This record gives sequence, structure tokens and C-alpha cells, in this order.
Amino acid sequence: MENYLGQDTCKLGFGLMRLPKNADGSIDIEQTGKMVDAFMAAGGTYFDTAYVYDSGKSEEAARLTLVDRYPRDRYTLATKLNAWILPTDEEGAKRQFYTSLERTNAGYFDYYLLHAIQRSNIQIYNDFHIWDFVRELKEKGLIKHWGFSFHADPELLEEVLTEHPDAEFVQLQLNYADWENPGVAAKRNYEICMAHRKPVVVMEPVKGGILADPIPGVKEVFDRSGSDISYAGWALRFAAGLGGIITVLSGMSSLEQMEDNLKTMKTFRPLNEQEMELIKAAQIALNEDKAIPCTACRYCTEGCPMNIPIPDIFTVANRRKGSPEFRTIREYNIVTQGKGRASECIQCGQCENACPQQLPIIRLLEECREMEG
Ligand code: SF4
Ligand code: SF4
Repeated sequence: MENYLGQDTCKLGFGLMRLPKNADGSIDIEQTGKMVDAFMAAGGTYFDTAYVYDSGKSEEAARLTLVDRYPRDRYTLATKLNAWILPTDEEGAKRQFYTSLERTNAGYFDYYLLHAIQRSNIQIYNDFHIWDFVRELKEKGLIKHWGFSFHADPELLEEVLTEHPDAEFVQLQLNYADWENPGVAAKRNYEICMAHRKPVVVMEPVKGGILADPIPGVKEVFDRSGSDISYAGWALRFAAGLGGIITVLSGMSSLEQMEDNLKTMKTFRPLNEQEMELIKAAQIALNEDKAIPCTACRYCTEGCPMNIPIPDIFTVANRRKGSPEFRTIREYNIVTQGKGRASECIQCGQCENACPQQLPIIRLLEECREMEG
């Protein structure tokens, strides 16, 4: 199916959200540069960053590893305006666009998005007139296409697309784990985009890495098939096999992940009927699992007044469930060192408003308190 933007191929997109890090927590530019080179050499073109990723360092890394090193017409660059995650006003929100231009030095953006639309924040985008702002940017030639990333229910998506029929694409969380998940409603949201003839940029096809190293029940399903496709490869094939897709973004953190993803996409073929049965079996195994489905996007941590490393605490809780041998207290102390602990949560609710997965973070943190020993 040819999509709205006139492209008929589906490609891997390089998500710059989880770039490799140095020991001091800064982005490893040398390693990122090697990943960019491998991606470009394999014919990849789509790069995705955002104003808020790594507090702006992701956009800077895009300049250093991509914009400064490759001709502008060899790649497409997407970034996003976030009107809600940091306290701001209309002027501050609009200024983000020009800051993104400065950080990346890209001259223009091929794709520009209103970031992570949810019920809790859409009014801010409306009040700040961001919809009209992106239309103006397009008229000025500063962006080529505009759209929005979306983390809410199908009813809201229907409303937004009806109110803004000129939005050119939608970025959706699509993966086999969330396909029928009522909290994410991936299938229904995808169907609404198709009904409105909006092409989709897929985000979280591997669910923040969860499907690259899935629970034992899912591994068993794929291992039994005797296939040499990696677990991440299965997840990518599921997402990339859908019609009307501009690109499937993968937030890659190492050359090894990049090479595995490129291998899957270079030899891409959609899942056949038998393989879809395996996906269904994996979905059933996931439904029986009790792990916290946090994708480690870190949107919740920016505004936490107690500086609680919420996703890191959830990772410890999940690893503990998967392995009785796991040294819980030691790991818990490492991730919370110099930061807030679960028991210090003051239940202000900021994190729950920001969480695209709609997780009941306050209740989950209460359950995590027992890891404090
Ligand atoms: S509810 Fe707790 S964890 Fe969430 S932002 Fe407030 S203090 Fe932080
Ligand atoms: S708890 Fe929600 S917002 Fe926070 S990192 Fe996990 S998925 Fe993202």
C-alpha cells in the first residue's frame, strides 16, 4: 500500500532516544557516530529525536554524528515540540523549535511533531496555538511535514484527526504486546489512522527493549519454532508488516542492536500465517506475565519533586520477579543512590500524568517499597 506521503517502502528508522552512554552518563558520540555510519551504509535515512530527549543532548548528538558529517539530502530528520513536560508558556514552547534548529544545525526538519499527545496535555497544545504554529512553520519551509505522536485512547485520536485533518502523519506505539492491550489500544489507534488515510510512524516496536529480551514464556514460543530470527526481529517484523507505515523506529543503544535490526529489515518479509500464530502464542504468554510494562522512556522522572528514578526501580522489581537469585537490595541501593527512594514518594501524581503507558506509578512504587529491606 502506498502511503499518504507517496512512499511505498517500509524502512527502519533510527530512534535517538536511548543512545549509548559513557561512564559519566553523557552520550558516547564516537559509538553513536559508528552507529550512524552503519545505518547510512545500509541505506537507512530516517532519524528521530526530540527537544526533550536527554535534556537536549540527543539533538546535539544528531548534529555531531549526522548533520555535520552527511549531506543534508541524504537523510530525513524528525524532532518534536513538547509543550507540557517542562513548565513553560506559549512563547517558551514555540521557542523550542528554534532551539532544536540551533542544536541540530539541520536548517529545516523533514518531520516535526507535537510530542506525546495525551488527554492530560492536549489542552496545553490547544491553548498555546501549537497546531497553527506548525502550519506556519510549514508555510515558511522550515518543516516539510507535520504530525503528532500519540499516547491515548482511540476516541481522542478520532477527535484530533477530525479537528486537524491536515495533520500529515501520526506516530503511534505499535508492537505485538500492545496490539490488544486496552491501555495502549494499538490496533484500534492504527485502524483509526488508516481510516483517516494518515500514514504511521511506528514507535516502540520492541516496547522499550522489553521484546528484545522477553520473559521466558515468550522466548520459549520463538525458540520452539527453530527460527534464527532474534526476539527483536520478531517484534520488528510484526510492526513493519502493517500497511501504511512510513518507518519503524527502533531506539538502538549499541552497534550490535543496530546490526541485528538492519539484518531483519534488509531481508524483511511480512509474517506468514504460521508465524502470526507464534505471535499470538507470545501475546498469550505476555498476558499471563505480571511484570511492570515500563518502557523506560523517562517522561515521568523530569518533574518528580523527589527525584525518584522510577523506571530504574521498576527494572529492579521486574528482574527480581524473573530471577529468585537476584540480589534485590543491593541493586535497589545502586539505582537509588543519591536519588529518591520509593518510600519518599509524596503522591503528587505528576509522574502518572506524564506516563504514556498510563501506569499506576504511585501504587506500583508502594509495592516496590518492600525492596528497601
Ligand atoms: S507521585 Fe511520587 S514518584 Fe510521582 S512525581 Fe510525585 S513524588 Fe515523584
Ligand atoms: S513509568 Fe511510564 S513514563 Fe516512566 S519511564 Fe516507565 S513508561 Fe515511561
